[in-house]
Amino acid sequence: MGCLALNASYEPLTIVPQKRAVRLVLDGKAEVLEVDGSRRFRSARRVLPCPSVIRLVRYVHVPFRFRRQVTNTFLFARDEYSCQYCGKHSGELRGRQFLTRDHILPTSRGGRNTWDNVVTSCSPCNNRKGNRTPREAGMDLLTVPREPNYVHLVWAVRRVTAIQAKYVRMFYGEEALEALGGVVAEA
Ligand SMILES: [Zn+2]
Repeated sequence: MGCLALNASYEPLTIVPQKRAVRLVLDGKAEVLEVDGSRRFRSARRVLPCPSVIRLVRYVHVPFRFRRQVTNTFLFARDEYSCQYCGKHSGELRGRQFLTRDHILPTSRGGRNTWDNVVTSCSPCNNRKGNRTPREAGMDLLTVPREPNYVHLVWAVRRVTAIQAKYVRMFYGEEALEALGGVVAEA
């Protein structure tokens, strides 16, 4: 389990390896807000509790925090890891079936790689649809694809502990924690 790094403003920035978090603290670049009581970090000279949440001492300006490109990680998370044609969850796929990115209007016909033109599809549905639109293929979409809320997605695809989730909620509000719902690991 990594360490949640907060900006000086308490904005959750990212998850860093615990070794790196300890380094930042020892260098005076971060302060420890929470420790993982069950673990110790041993350096050459001393033994320290492992930090689970740190806060940077100086504010780091992050201009392009959330990348807006469609990635399969975020696309599958947005669609709750389910085929948007047949509704199958990734856990129900068999053998060589897998989740894919389907372009509603195929790229070969000018369809773009934008959030409203891509959906999660299981490989059999994607093969069946082929180079057609859903209407041409007689396949209905279960949802209308939209651009997702990035803050929610960015944190939903990370595994955070209950204590780390508390800091995400403090900064982004209750909704963000709901988005984290199923992926929050027990602390
Ligand atoms: Zn399907």
